[in-house]
Amino acid sequence: MQPIRIEKTKKPKEKPAGALGFGSVFTDHMFLMDYTAEKGWHDPRLVPYAPLVLDPAALVFHYAQECFEGLKAYRTAAGGVQLFRPDKNGERLASTHRRLCIPEIPVEDFVAAVRALVALDADWVPSEPDTSLYLRPFTIATEPKLGVKASDSYLFCIIASPSGSYYAGGIDPVRIYVEDEYTRAAPGGTGAIKCGGNYAASLLSGEKAHAAGYDQVLWLDGVHRRYVEEVGSMNCFFKIDGVLYTAPTNGTVLPGITRMSCIELLERWGYKVSVDRLAIDDVMAAAADGRLEEVFGTGTAAVISPVGELRYKDKTVVIGGGAIGPVTQKLYDTLTGIQYGRIDPPQGWIVPVE
Ligand SMILES: *Cc1c(COP(=O)(O)O)cnc(C)c1O
Repeated sequence: MQPIRIEKTKKPKEKPAGALGFGSVFTDHMFLMDYTAEKGWHDPRLVPYAPLVLDPAALVFHYAQECFEGLKAYRTAAGGVQLFRPDKNGERLASTHRRLCIPEIPVEDFVAAVRALVALDADWVPSEPDTSLYLRPFTIATEPKLGVKASDSYLFCIIASPSGSYYAGGIDPVRIYVEDEYTRAAPGGTGAIKCGGNYAASLLSGEKAHAAGYDQVLWLDGVHRRYVEEVGSMNCFFKIDGVLYTAPTNGTVLPGITRMSCIELLERWGYKVSVDRLAIDDVMAAAADGRLEEVFGTGTAAVISPVGELRYKDKTVVIGGGAIGPVTQKLYDTLTGIQYGRIDPPQGWIVPVE
């Protein structure tokens, strides 16, 4: 990558006062880089945060050639700023680009771009407990063209948003509605990549769950409507008879970095992790005879999200009396401990910014 050009804002914004929400306040700068067939990826730059100007015919608006990533910068007790496994986000963005016919960005360029933006806007990384600077890298197809094709020009952008504690009111287990009508992903489709289209297609199920009084949906596989895959936009784990089950990432499940980190920690701690298909009927049967010990979702935003209740067709089961389970709690404490620098990280998990 060429050296990153820096154009600083002349009008620094007011930092938000009081409790931070999620994703509605943005920092002073953003990272941009263009792609054209002639020049490849070029002109990496940090510029004042501002609206983008795009041709209404830009391919992204019509055929959704778009994808994104999500990661956070954390403030440590010592005042430093650090990232959690950003190389894994870079690898995942590269595989997403390949699936969407977008030219790849080298992992080291991705990490350098993230670090440069966080370093420039470091005073936006909040320091209250469990707050962070959420980073949203994304790529869009910019060629103005109504014919269906892979774009020959792209924009890669990173924006940053100070975000509050996900569990400001304490860790409350979520109530989950098992979706047996719509599906999120099919074999051969785009379930394994972070493209916006997956999210657009999931909204209706989310609304259905809310209308029924639930927080989120549990997705079943698209072929049999039988095997558990994800919870909302999180990976999920089920602890049955002491064994942790999570769906394999072979095409229809998003390979979450939190999921991967949980599997690595659980194995170090000596738990048996079964990365294999698990039928919803077996989950409900285990719940009925008291063998379903814990259920939780994993993802960057919430880290670990305990599931307190599952509803499948006309049956409802409560897990762990609606309280957070011990393994769920230990994973949450360990991952956040590592992210905020309170616990020594496994080799390579933490990348300091300053
Ligand atoms: C981003 C995402 C996850 C979680 O991935 P992390 O890397 O752990 O944040 C899980 N499922 C879906 C569908 C996602 O988009």
